[in-house]
Amino acid sequence: GAVVEVDLHEGLETTLTVLGHKLKQTTIRVVRDYDRALPHLTVRGSELNQVWTNLLDNAIDALGESGTITLTTRRDGERALVEIADDGPGIPDEVVAHIFDSFYTTKDVGRGTGLGLATARRIVVDRHGGSIIVGSEPGRTAFRVWLPLTAPD
Ligand code: ADP
Ligand code: MG
Repeated sequence: GAVVEVDLHEGLETTLTVLGHKLKQTTIRVVRDYDRALPHLTVRGSELNQVWTNLLDNAIDALGESGTITLTTRRDGERALVEIADDGPGIPDEVVAHIFDSFYTTKDVGRGTGLGLATARRIVVDRHGGSIIVGSEPGRTAFRVWLPLTAPD
């Protein structure tokens, strides 16, 4: 794909707008902790908004009616760090072991495809040379995504 410049904050805000119809039906609060000095990313093609969509969609599902989603960005050397955290129930260890597998879902038929995190990982790792990890305990789940500031050749 073509080399393009990406403003991560703009991508996160666009995604929140797209998910507005779903958020509006809840009292979920979104807290932003953005590093305003974070440089734009130089990427080859970009499907990053699909990553934010999939992570935020899961956070909203996990919270249900109410709770807090915290979006954090930081510069970490030559990478950008984006953390999407929620104060929902958390993910049991036996579930965490499978969440990045295609078609793995704990949701009812018709509510989840089990493709969201597999797709997110594919985009982050295969397409952008980044990494994605999850940390979860009861009351807090955080997905952390690292992306190179400049696309590797
Ligand atoms: P889907 O959303 O269609 O179920 P995903 O690949 O997006 O598929 O997520 C897989 C599973 O990971 C979900 O079914 C859920 O069990 C778990 N999960 C993902 N994000 C969270 C979260 N923030 N809190 C709790 N569980 C989560
Ligand atoms: Mg999902």
